[in-house]
Amino acid sequence: MTYEIIIGLEIHVQLQTRTKIFCGCSTAFNPDHPNVQVCPVCLGLPGALPVLNAEAFHLGIKTALGLGCEIAKFTKWDRKQYFYPDLPKGYQISQFDLPFSHDGHVEVVIGAASADPAQPPPVRRVRILRAHLEEDAGKNVHDESGRGRESKVDLNRAGTPLVEIVTEPDLRSSAEARQFLEELKLMLTYLEVSDCNMQEGSLRCDANVNLHVIQADGSRVPTPIVEIKNLNSFRFTEQAIDYEVARQWESFQQTGIRMGAKGGHKRTVGFDPGRGTTYPLREKEEAADYRYFPDPDLVPMTTTTDQVAAIRAEMCELPSHRRQRLIQDYQLSTYDAAVIIDQGRPVADYFEEVAKSCGDGKQAANWLTQDLQAAMKERGESIVNFPIRPEVLAGLLERINKKRITIKSAREVFTSLLSGTAEGLSPSVPRIDELIASRGLEIVQDTGAIDAAISEVFSRSAKAIADFKAGNEKAVGALIGQVMKGVKGADPQTVREKVLARLAE
Ligand code: ZN
Ligand code: MN
Repeated sequence: MTYEIIIGLEIHVQLQTRTKIFCGCSTAFNPDHPNVQVCPVCLGLPGALPVLNAEAFHLGIKTALGLGCEIAKFTKWDRKQYFYPDLPKGYQISQFDLPFSHDGHVEVVIGAASADPAQPPPVRRVRILRAHLEEDAGKNVHDESGRGRESKVDLNRAGTPLVEIVTEPDLRSSAEARQFLEELKLMLTYLEVSDCNMQEGSLRCDANVNLHVIQADGSRVPTPIVEIKNLNSFRFTEQAIDYEVARQWESFQQTGIRMGAKGGHKRTVGFDPGRGTTYPLREKEEAADYRYFPDPDLVPMTTTTDQVAAIRAEMCELPSHRRQRLIQDYQLSTYDAAVIIDQGRPVADYFEEVAKSCGDGKQAANWLTQDLQAAMKERGESIVNFPIRPEVLAGLLERINKKRITIKSAREVFTSLLSGTAEGLSPSVPRIDELIASRGLEIVQDTGAIDAAISEVFSRSAKAIADFKAGNEKAVGALIGQVMKGVKGADPQTVREKVLARLAE
């Protein structure tokens, strides 16, 4: 017996509007001042009427288009009734049978690329069942001092716009689930629809997990589905799924209980990161238990194809597409393209500016992923406030490409540009030339001087020459080193070629 892991995800994403979805209260994350961003609407006071925030709908459509979803021409609001202390109205305004979008997909690279660059890396196509809009609940704050037994409610978050994304059960491992979430987060931040800050709860995930146990005769037996609620980190999502897979496999081997059989109903659990285990929560409601009905306080919405086209036109290129384009336009490796794209849109923009302007994408990628990355880390700066702007880095790389300086000298200039900022010298292209001149870094292209130095070195290096001719190829390094010493700033490539040519004479 073996099994296949079946995972579907439901993700709640906070949309980055300034105000809440049905009132004018601020959506700022403000846990130190509870219950200050509230009004009669989000407190659920009798008679208060909600009004849709058009920006929330707009960002919702952008999100859905990013997911490749169809946008419904007609959509409405429904009340989802349940009792919980952080839900002041006793119901959540959500969307039930007519969500504003449905039927999309996201392609996720799973596993490593093959060694053959012509072979594209394996991709999992994850279908999106639907994406709908709803309001967030407040937050219960439990006393963690261990002394009191008080719990309090903070309603600052109540009414924050959420888009709920529901995937089909297309993921096949905890690692795939994580890769999907990372790609989703990257896409949402590129689109600037959400900051996806998981510590602040802007992106939360529920995972539906079960196994299809494959019998000796090839038939498949599904184990009962378990829904793991409110996973607020990628690592916890992976850990929780791994735990559930192991637990379900063991349980099936002991009991043989299949989904739908007696004792095989769907269950809802939480994840305890400290123990690394799941624990049972309330029994899962069926849709009927929520007694959904259309919200009489909100009018349904209609969307025209023109409106959708206008929103599509203002969207940026999606990261998955941009990764492919960097590979094609700048001949980057799959790896470098991923490293650049996965660091977010400002890094990708910086890269493209440098690559376009210096005309050498590979060189730009090398500098960005090595020298720049290291310098930013050391200085604690992000790309947005990094003092060497793209046009200056491009100027430096251009001087390497035109063989005016070596890569080694360019590193020296780069470091000087950065350390100069402490004295108020701003990095600029003219400053690069000043540094090259003052430090004598210009490559000597005068081949006469190089030829003369080679003759001089050869006249006193009979042993090294004999060693080389006897098969010791390393001897050439010593000869090149001598010549380089003789002509300050000589192009090492030219020297190497000339020394080898002289040895071959
Ligand atoms: Zn309010
Ligand atoms: Mn929801």
